[in-house]
Amino acid sequence: MIRRFFSYYRPYKWLFVLDFSCAIIAGLLELAFPVAVNAFIDDLLPGGKWGTILWASLGLLALYALNTSLMYIVNYWGHMLGINIETDMRRKLFAHMQKLSFRYFDNTKTGHLIGRLTNDLNMIGEMAHHGPEDLFIAVMTLVGSFALMLSINWQLAVITFIIVPIIIWIVVYFNKKMTQAIHQLYRDIGDFNARIEDSVGGIRVVKAFSNEKHEEAQFAVNNGRFRLTKLSSYKLIAKNGSISYMMMRFVTLFVMVCGTWFVIREQLTYGEFVGFLLLTNVFFRPIEKINAIVESYPQGFAGFKRYTELLDTEPDVADAPDAVEMQPFQREIRFDRVSFSYDGEKKVLDQVDLVIRKGETIAFVGPSGAGKTTLCSLLPRFYEVESGSITIDGVDIRQVTQDSLRRQIGIVQQDVFLFAGTIRENILYGKLEASEEEIWEAARRARLDDFIRAQEQGMDTVIGERGVKLSGGQKQRLAIARMFLKNPPILILDEATSALDTETEMAIQQSLAELSKGRTTLVIAHRLATIKDADRIVVVTQDGIVEQGHHRELVDAGGVYSRLYQAQFGVLQGLEGVS
Ligand code: ADP
Ligand code: MG
Repeated sequence: MIRRFFSYYRPYKWLFVLDFSCAIIAGLLELAFPVAVNAFIDDLLPGGKWGTILWASLGLLALYALNTSLMYIVNYWGHMLGINIETDMRRKLFAHMQKLSFRYFDNTKTGHLIGRLTNDLNMIGEMAHHGPEDLFIAVMTLVGSFALMLSINWQLAVITFIIVPIIIWIVVYFNKKMTQAIHQLYRDIGDFNARIEDSVGGIRVVKAFSNEKHEEAQFAVNNGRFRLTKLSSYKLIAKNGSISYMMMRFVTLFVMVCGTWFVIREQLTYGEFVGFLLLTNVFFRPIEKINAIVESYPQGFAGFKRYTELLDTEPDVADAPDAVEMQPFQREIRFDRVSFSYDGEKKVLDQVDLVIRKGETIAFVGPSGAGKTTLCSLLPRFYEVESGSITIDGVDIRQVTQDSLRRQIGIVQQDVFLFAGTIRENILYGKLEASEEEIWEAARRARLDDFIRAQEQGMDTVIGERGVKLSGGQKQRLAIARMFLKNPPILILDEATSALDTETEMAIQQSLAELSKGRTTLVIAHRLATIKDADRIVVVTQDGIVEQGHHRELVDAGGVYSRLYQAQFGVLQGLEGVS
């Protein structure tokens, strides 16, 4: 894992070398100052030669200036290294998320994913910069200052050294505790984000049910848990800080008492004494840093672990290594004994056979939950068939690239998803490189152009998150315009108009009819009146495909379809006056 972590440094190895060497020099200078002070007091002070003292001071000043520049480089360029690595990781992770399949997103909370892209990576970036540097400098200053202390007075040095095993214990103990706390913290933040995402995304439902108080209560639970976890980690940090502080002051005091004794017995000069005390400070500095290290390492590594976990999640629908571009659709789509289940247990589709010829309009009807949507979502390979196969012109869809397959299939659903942005951006989604003329042409064919022109901002009208500023019919038209622009040979209309009122539905039906012209169309419809003219009607129930044929044929056959039709026809007649 550590190796994998360092692989992200590769593109920035010079930045790393720069940062690291500056940090090392700065560390060495820290060690040099006490030695210089020692010499200053012992060698220059007694002589009282002002000229030399002045020169020595200027020399020290130069060293301080050098150290200042080094600190600037370490702070700025070092952080640049961290943010570069963070940016790379984020790009990579986002790209990987785009590849994951529907099944993954069905089972993952959006908030958790957002947490990984933001919070986790933030922590990793911090660690990427500070991690190796802090650790190395800590070890270097510890060893260096100890060596210098030894050279001044070994007895005092040994006394100071007693603190080291205690530090090691602190590091090991708190590191373990912190790691646990941090993992919990990450989970809490993920839950948190998921909660917010849900509440805000569903704000209309929340308000419609007047369940604000309920949402608040739910949120309070998450918020409270977050608080507790955060508190427990602060408690650890505080404990660690106090224990370290106490140990350090205790040792300093001890050194002072012993040092005084050595000075009185003339085993130690004043300069050595002051130099030694300054060195103990340098020696303790990494120990103080351990607070930060103990906090940031577990955070960074917990984040990195989650990062790699997600990065290693294989999409269950992936291009075969030898996948080829799908050729333009020519003849037929064939479902051959297709079985499928979402959970691996309950079969939604069982041994389904179906042939759809090019240019055909084929309608799927049947009770809700029968598997119509599922059947249609297997064709663009949103999910993988469990057994059997789907072929287009004799080529298994698993042998072509998902890109080329999906370019040939367009889907208009009941709940249109629109992006927060302008009308233009949303239509453009059908074909990103379309010209302005093409966009208007698509809008015109979807009969959305009058509406767009009536807007003050025209194409640049912002439609709000998920298109909340549009009516159901306008949303659907936008989706249709997008599809005109995409212009796929195969079209799936999944209850595209079911959510609309009858009048809008009829208007939109015309646009849909125009959209399906010259395309192979799979229609899932709720209201049978809309599909009477389909080339073929396929009746899907819990038992699979039970009937297929023309409207008239099926009505005459007196099976499931004719019963559905009678029921709706009767109801429709009753409702006609109302709607
Ligand atoms: P229809 O479109 O005919 O109403 P669906 O194809 O949407 O039916 O659903 C068929 C069955 O599969 C239903 O029992 C439904 O609960 C289940 N189902 C649909 N989508 C998913 C999903 N993403 N994950 C798990 N089960 C699902
Ligand atoms: Mg459905």
